[in-house]
Amino acid sequence: MTKPVFSKPFTQQEPIPEAAIERAVEVMRSGRLHRYNLLEGETGEAAKLEQEYAAYMGQRYCLACSSGGYALHIALKAAGLKPGEPVLSNAFTLAPVPGAIDNAGGKPVLVEIGRDYCVDLAHLEQMMQQSKARFFILSHMRGHIADMDAITALCQKYSVTLIEDCAHTMGASWDGRKSGTFGKVGCFSTQTYKHLNSGEGGLLTTDDDEVIARAIIYSGSYMLYQRHGTLPEARVFDAIKLDTPNYSGRMDNLRAAILRAQLPDLEQNCARWNERYRALEARLRENSQILLPPRPDKESYVGSSLQFRVEQFDNQQVAAFIAASAARGVELKWFGGAEPHGFTSRYDSWRYIEKAQHLPQTLEILATTFDLRIPLTFSVEDMALIGAIIDDEVEIRLGSQA
Ligand SMILES: *Cc1c(COP(=O)(O)O)cnc(C)c1O
Repeated sequence: MTKPVFSKPFTQQEPIPEAAIERAVEVMRSGRLHRYNLLEGETGEAAKLEQEYAAYMGQRYCLACSSGGYALHIALKAAGLKPGEPVLSNAFTLAPVPGAIDNAGGKPVLVEIGRDYCVDLAHLEQMMQQSKARFFILSHMRGHIADMDAITALCQKYSVTLIEDCAHTMGASWDGRKSGTFGKVGCFSTQTYKHLNSGEGGLLTTDDDEVIARAIIYSGSYMLYQRHGTLPEARVFDAIKLDTPNYSGRMDNLRAAILRAQLPDLEQNCARWNERYRALEARLRENSQILLPPRPDKESYVGSSLQFRVEQFDNQQVAAFIAASAARGVELKWFGGAEPHGFTSRYDSWRYIEKAQHLPQTLEILATTFDLRIPLTFSVEDMALIGAIIDDEVEIRLGSQA
């Protein structure tokens, strides 16, 4: 009997919707791609996107900028990070997070994760005490939302400013409140593999007058900041505009137009991701060696990827399992490798972080964690096949031990 094989690519996103393509063509016909290139009285696409995304988030302000990593960088600066200051972040995240801290002049201080892939609260408190950091970038890595009640309480207790990296939680919420509204700033990415797709792009949201004014100026507004979609009063800019450098990182009208046309479908797409996530999760549950993270009742996640662990695997079995799954068309990523690979890297490969940190719990968890993307080009039925292949390949290696 030949083994079933899956044949769709794990990196193929859905096409940009026709409505977005039409809007993009209109913007190109107008020639006004730069966000400040407007007709008299015109509100450009970038400004409209800011208004619509702020309304979607239920927040006062939004800034559209060049990438998610850039949004994190200027969020730190706008929130008042000084050169050389420590910035806390969970160790399981993507390279743009420590990169943004470094770019903002901060020193990353990494925190352990737990078996739910969220930041370890006990270690977080310990590192808050030890580092005296005034800032914490909480990366909701792979869409896992930590206990936000506990996180906000800790931030309050130690006077730490929370900045949320919502690259994987756009559309998600905790206890009915949108992810990105717990901290002083929420940062989102609209890079192709995230929940809205403009190739590259970032969105920053906040309710804070001074943070948004500084972020707008940092983003490269020249003295045209009044052309932004969501603005505090003019006096807020007057107080800071000459003290805030221009770190050119604007979003253009073309990408904004593409994003605006996708925003109305976001909620529906989140439901489609979850349908696929739950189908795969249900299939993987049939194998008790496959450990799936608990998803708390308060967490409304967006299942655009799935993580699982097979604790019994040793390093050789991990490698063989990944290779055998790949041979059957199932692309699994591994964050446990010493050598960074593709988009994935383990924290100890970020060697520019000065103070060497050893995080044994994170290393142990990542050593047997597998990660797979769930693009919307996969059907719900596809998930059963992917699940069956994973189940089978685990069974081949551990069957006798079960
Ligand atoms: C993608 C991503 C970012 C940054 O987004 P870019 O737009 O690529 O700069 C930040 N954090 C996480 C966890 C991400 O996956």
